[in-house]
Amino acid sequence: MSLKLNAKKTLNNLIIQTKNNPTIKSLIMFDPIFLKYHLSPNHPEDPKRIKYIGEELKKIGLDSILQKVDKDLLVMDAIRMIHSNDHISSIKANFPDAYEVAVAAVQSVITAVNQVCSGKKKNAFCAVRPPGHHALNTGREEGFCYFNNIAIAAKYVQKNYKINKIMIVDWDYHHGNSTEFFFYNDPSVLFFSTHDKFAYPLTGDPNKKGEGPGKGFNINIHLPCGTSDNDILDAFTTNLKPAADKFKPELILISAGFDSRKNDPLGCFEVSDSGFIKLTKLVMDIAEKYSGSKIVSILEGGYNLKGNASAAVAHIKTLINYKV
Ligand SMILES: [Zn+2]
Repeated sequence: MSLKLNAKKTLNNLIIQTKNNPTIKSLIMFDPIFLKYHLSPNHPEDPKRIKYIGEELKKIGLDSILQKVDKDLLVMDAIRMIHSNDHISSIKANFPDAYEVAVAAVQSVITAVNQVCSGKKKNAFCAVRPPGHHALNTGREEGFCYFNNIAIAAKYVQKNYKINKIMIVDWDYHHGNSTEFFFYNDPSVLFFSTHDKFAYPLTGDPNKKGEGPGKGFNINIHLPCGTSDNDILDAFTTNLKPAADKFKPELILISAGFDSRKNDPLGCFEVSDSGFIKLTKLVMDIAEKYSGSKIVSILEGGYNLKGNASAAVAHIKTLINYKV
């Protein structure tokens, strides 16, 4: 009974804190365009992923602070920092519906990094799809991805702000093979990924640590089926924390995939919402120490519609509430 009352009290406090409150230092990017386009009927990368997140946000009053995408924002130069002209033209010509939504996802993440890097907001969450961390320059969709949103954001920030050292944290169940690929030789981007290396796309071997000047800046942590909150938290505490202390990131980007949550149809981990809250807090502690609290979190996978929404909202609430 008292637990229930406490939960209600916390929820009410959150609503009071957030509704029309200009002091909220978090940005949530959310737009009806992400309810468009489906790879095929019944495909798990479903527009309802975003719809469910929107409904959960509305229940707690956070719909009042959602920011829509500026469809006129020019992002082609940013996309070209990662993707080839051939890849971009091929997506545009062969997958026009996906192209429109994928460009809007890039527009969202560029808006988010602009707000955070200019100091207008402390952190941001982008409720976008299609996801991005498997997108290569193959001219087609890879693992439901077309453009690597997080890689584009990192390159864009390095070019447009006095920010060089960027840490990308990827807790999606799948390995962020494209993000690894684009920064494999690059010591200015520390890529940290927890994943199941036996799942798609069969990459993410812990022995792959980067190459040339990038050696030591690529950290792959394989976790087995059944991975619990404590297991993934241990991996972060043991491996991410010391690496971050050494690297001292000036900005942290999160590939927030929630297919590592329990009951995901594409994953086999057992992480709960409470686990994602702990991971979020751990990353926020690092950000507070080194990056002026700057975090931009971008949705990747997560295919249990209810579970994905529940975890995403737990993550967003943590970004908003923690040490405000
Ligand atoms: Zn995934």
